[in-house]
Amino acid sequence: MNSTLCLTGLMRGELLDILNHWGEKPFRTKQIWSWTHCKLVGAIDDMTDLSKDFRQRLKESFYFCRPKIKLRQVSQDKTIKWLLELEDGLCVEMVYIPEDDRGTLCVSCQVGCSLSCPFCHTGTHRLERNLRVAEMVDQVILARFELMAEGLRVTNVVLMGMGEPLYNYDAVVKAVRIIMDPNGLAIGSRKITLSTAGVVPRLADVGRDLGVNLAISLHGVHNEVRDRLVPLNRKHDLTALKQAMLTYPLKGGRRITWEYVLLEGINDSDEDARGLVRYLKGVPSKVNLIPFNPWPGTTFVPSSMERIKSFQEIVGGSGLVTVIRDRRGGDIAAACGQLVG
Ligand code: SF4
Repeated sequence: MNSTLCLTGLMRGELLDILNHWGEKPFRTKQIWSWTHCKLVGAIDDMTDLSKDFRQRLKESFYFCRPKIKLRQVSQDKTIKWLLELEDGLCVEMVYIPEDDRGTLCVSCQVGCSLSCPFCHTGTHRLERNLRVAEMVDQVILARFELMAEGLRVTNVVLMGMGEPLYNYDAVVKAVRIIMDPNGLAIGSRKITLSTAGVVPRLADVGRDLGVNLAISLHGVHNEVRDRLVPLNRKHDLTALKQAMLTYPLKGGRRITWEYVLLEGINDSDEDARGLVRYLKGVPSKVNLIPFNPWPGTTFVPSSMERIKSFQEIVGGSGLVTVIRDRRGGDIAAACGQLVG
């Protein structure tokens, strides 16, 4: 590889600046951007309306680092999981969840994860490295490209795959801005959700820099329980998290999504449900109750559906929007907390 910059890791303005510097007209940026982010090509030679000489010049400065698909699995419920190989041979997983009116792509932001939440299979894969901007943008481009032929669309993106997005903040911000660019992938801020374990000092930045939806992995409303389930709580506890959420710059009409995985005998009692209602008081909230998806070697046990429904009745009965998340992709280990790469 002689080239230097991965093309899909650039913002449109950066590409424009480089081409300006070369003395090229602004429409060149438009042409290239349309090939990469709308027609989803994966090689400079596929940009057929550019002259041979110009393509050669591009090849001397840019290249494509699109991950390779190592494995594709389709679940009984039509959820699709891809194992992607990055340039250096490391792998991440990416998941597509089709629904009637939309298609959600779950994107990874790190290889492995440093936070080691014990109920999460990803947490057993030690952090190897952060993903680069292009490696996150390319997940959306690749999924769109792959799904196009099947008439499936990627309308929503959730940063909920492998890793903690706020520990790869600068790259995530840039990738999300590229994904939102209205002249390219054009996925708006309302259709993008960033999911975090609660890196408190960074939370306000997400609202200010991106304005996307925020989901927080809560999983416990007592520090002793959350310390165990989300070890990051020992650094940023429930009080600090609540304080950050009370002052979070929420855009009009939006709510914070709270993820709560139900584990038998650990965080699923009626008292826990009432504690959850108390904890969320004052924060515009939506609660996702997640049936635990067991993985080989885990000692956690899923709560029964009966228990989950009682929990939901208490939380929902308080007026909070409360949804029991579908176990999508469980048969191919594509469900929440099952990604290991
Ligand atoms: S739940 Fe999220 S933050 Fe915790 S180990 Fe899994 S991927 Fe990492």
